[in-house]
Amino acid sequence: MAGPSKHTHKYHKIEGNLWACGDCTHYLPKNVASMIYTRFSRCWECDRIVKMTDPVMDFAEMHNNGRILCDVHIERLKKVLAGVDIDLIEAAEAAAKLQEQIDKGDIKL
Ligand SMILES: [Zn+2]
Ligand SMILES: [Zn+2]
Repeated sequence: MAGPSKHTHKYHKIEGNLWACGDCTHYLPKNVASMIYTRFSRCWECDRIVKMTDPVMDFAEMHNNGRILCDVHIERLKKVLAGVDIDLIEAAEAAAKLQEQIDKGDIKL
């Protein structure tokens, strides 16, 4: 990545209403914090692009040290928080991915 604005920022909340990028020096100061609603962030787990919305930010604040997650990883963390065994989740995900590759014809049986 070249300059600070060449990537989609990966936001996390660092204090009060201040959201900063984990990969560069960009941040949104408090006086323009409402601009966060026009922004997108990369997921801290998988780099998928996520729109910054209240549910996404609230979940990050409450459960992930302020770090933004995509829908997939929010759902996954919810399961972990609910006490579901992560090994079972990963096994199910791997099986689903394999099935997807088979369906697309990437894997010949
Ligand atoms: Zn950045
Ligand atoms: Zn993700």
